[in-house]
Amino acid sequence: VTDESSDISRINSETGAVSVSADTEKLISRAKNISALTGGAFDITLRPVSKLWGFTDKAPRVPSDDEIRAALEKRGTARIEITDGKVSFDGEIDVGGIAKGYAASLIRSIFAENGIDHAVVSLGGNVMLCGGRPDGAPWNVGIAHPEKEGDIIGFLTASDAAVVTSGGYERFFTQNGESYHHIIDPDTGYPAQSGIISATVISKDDALADALSTALYVMGPEKAERFWRETDGFDMILITEKEILITDGIFESFNLQDKNFKVTKIGK
Ligand code: ADP
Ligand code: MG
Repeated sequence: VTDESSDISRINSETGAVSVSADTEKLISRAKNISALTGGAFDITLRPVSKLWGFTDKAPRVPSDDEIRAALEKRGTARIEITDGKVSFDGEIDVGGIAKGYAASLIRSIFAENGIDHAVVSLGGNVMLCGGRPDGAPWNVGIAHPEKEGDIIGFLTASDAAVVTSGGYERFFTQNGESYHHIIDPDTGYPAQSGIISATVISKDDALADALSTALYVMGPEKAERFWRETDGFDMILITEKEILITDGIFESFNLQDKNFKVTKIGK
């Protein structure tokens, strides 16, 4: 559902600089920075491409190569200009990969201002942990099983952090026996097929966790591992066909439930 009067809709439909709220400005500026940080794997300017696929439409479809090529030309986060509460961009943006995380960070601030020390907020795939459990123990957060709907593959014990999972199994359509999901590889304009089935990010930074879960999914296991080594501020759980890769900051906090999977620790 798109709200026609929202800041994002106006940026997409109007030409020139559009006045936006302080939150929209911050959200877009963070998205731009994370795009640069991830070498473009996270890209909020892919909307012309995802519109072609129509993942949120009643009748999604596989676009032609020509259509995809033309839509890819319209992207580029470097061209988004942000100045004094105004945003201008001659393409279209889609903040679906970071908005929930940003919203979670706002909820976290509201809780802090109101003396709420213990809470869990779940925004579809984004879990925001405020403090630990009232009894002093950490929270248990289930990591969705990518193949068995409703099941968990394992759970993580954590406090005061964001735990965000992106998976291609969440939203997809099937055409001629092939399934196509909603996370787009900005290099190809096609759904990312990187060898990752789901990517979970754990971080103190809610917006970063959300955006990176999408970016790591696009990168694939090898690139994601390299990226983690050179980037501070997050841990990750990557599920591939063969194994579950877990970075050492949270390795001991993960409890495997489905013993058919092998767990591998990644160190710096
Ligand atoms: P969800 O929002 O379904 O929980 P994600 O956080 O992984 O899952 O975000 C996926 C959404 O992000 C897509 O629906 C789309 O709006 C947007 N998106 C798709 N591909 C990319 C990408 N490469 N970079 C940034 N955003 C993307
Ligand atoms: Mg995300």
